[in-house]
Amino acid sequence: MTARAQIGVTGLAVMGRNLARNFARHGYTVAVHNRSYAKTESLIADAGHEGDFVASESMADFVASLERPRKVVVMVKAGAATDAVIDELVPLLEEGDIVVDAGNAHFPDTIRREEALRAKGLHFVGTGVSGGEEGALNGPSIMPGGTRESYASLGPILEDISAKVDGTPCCTYVGPDGAGHFVKMVHNGIEYADMQLIAEAYDLLKQGLGASAAEIGQIFADWNTGDLESFLIEITADVLQHVDAATGSAFVDIVLDQAEQKGTGRWTVQNGLDLGVPITGIAEATFARALSGSVPQRAAGRAALPADAGTWEITDRDAFIEDVRLALYASKVVAYSQGFDQIAAASAEYGWDVDRGAMARIWRGGCIIRARFLNRITEAYERDAELPLLLADEYFTGAVANGLAAWRRVVAQAALNGVPAPAFSSSLAYYDGVRAERLPAALIQAQRDFFGAHTYRRTDREGTFHTEWSGDR
Ligand code: NAP
Repeated sequence: MTARAQIGVTGLAVMGRNLARNFARHGYTVAVHNRSYAKTESLIADAGHEGDFVASESMADFVASLERPRKVVVMVKAGAATDAVIDELVPLLEEGDIVVDAGNAHFPDTIRREEALRAKGLHFVGTGVSGGEEGALNGPSIMPGGTRESYASLGPILEDISAKVDGTPCCTYVGPDGAGHFVKMVHNGIEYADMQLIAEAYDLLKQGLGASAAEIGQIFADWNTGDLESFLIEITADVLQHVDAATGSAFVDIVLDQAEQKGTGRWTVQNGLDLGVPITGIAEATFARALSGSVPQRAAGRAALPADAGTWEITDRDAFIEDVRLALYASKVVAYSQGFDQIAAASAEYGWDVDRGAMARIWRGGCIIRARFLNRITEAYERDAELPLLLADEYFTGAVANGLAAWRRVVAQAALNGVPAPAFSSSLAYYDGVRAERLPAALIQAQRDFFGAHTYRRTDREGTFHTEWSGDR
């Protein structure tokens, strides 16, 4: 076997197959391998003409077909399958070779794998790949972690196949060990929040205006020409205007209202709790999916809890639509601000030194949350790389202030009319919390000292204090 392939892909299900084709279309000689050979044969049969592939049935032949230092992209099911493939690969590799895990690994697994492979003289690059199968083929957003040394030879290839926005690749070095997968995880968490906010906006328009799915789809199409322009708003407009072929009904009306999840939202929330970062938008979105799937609880709630809410009285249709648009934008800024805070906190905790502005830049294309708005985030971190709160950047302060009254009206109307808007309302509560002069946390500290002698700090002097409360009862 001549070692002539510049890059290899093992795991040729939808993602790996399309990534391999993307490499080949960019002129790379690509070694391809899959546990069951049928998928490899199918790739060669369907796409062999697109470029130079070297197909191998065994892992040993696959590894032998790669130029050194070898670059092997593992694109298999996350979890035990990834470990199984790494275990098979490692004895066949030599010092300086690079193993790239491009699946959706949980970042603590990536930290563990990186450490184990480093001990064997190998580079392990945990990389986020966003954009689904279409992105993998035509240009994803790529978030590689690992060593800078590995990025020097691997990075240019990944940048080559990534999406481009204004000629800039949607791929950059993220940081050591688990940083790439961490950032991809937060990207997915933000995606949860963004989708939930869009769903709440749809619901408010539906209930408030009594508008049809197609009418609301048109409103989203209009919104997509302004500040909200993004892939998710664009596809929402398309989805809402789609008619179910079987029934002739609006497609969205025939879909069961139980949202599923694969786990990255849950990981993001768990990490937010671990680090103590209030990512309330992502958490509300994750719990809203959980509530939608709580079938017995919803049945019991529907049967027992009265529909006491008021009836909508919207006199100015256009003004209401504009209010919802402004509320959506402001809530979205909060969700992103929280996600970027989480990246900053993790970066400090795990020693990653992640450039948040660069993350916003590589999310502008190829991925699900791609949006015009991300340029504004990059600009904010260019103004101040250490910005403690994205919301406090001058652009976002202005943008949110512009919609603040509308945001309050929308959240108030949702509450008065009994429409659940957890992400809209918790984002507003976060906004009011983070800007508050004084929070009722003072009372919580006093309570803690009362029942558990947990101590408190004072506003008028330094130090830690405890009060003898026994005389107060
Ligand atoms: P998948 O359904 O997650 O996994 C199927 C692939 O894993 C097949 O190639 C399968 O080989 C291989 N595999 C499973 N267990 C194995 C084992 N024990 N040993 C060796 N190979 C094993 O595939 P996918 O949807 O293409 O996703 C690949 C990765 O990308 C996953 O980590 C996924 O989370 C991530 N991802 C997916 C998307 C998406 O939109 N689908 C987007 C971003 C990231 P066989 O053919 O032999 O069964």
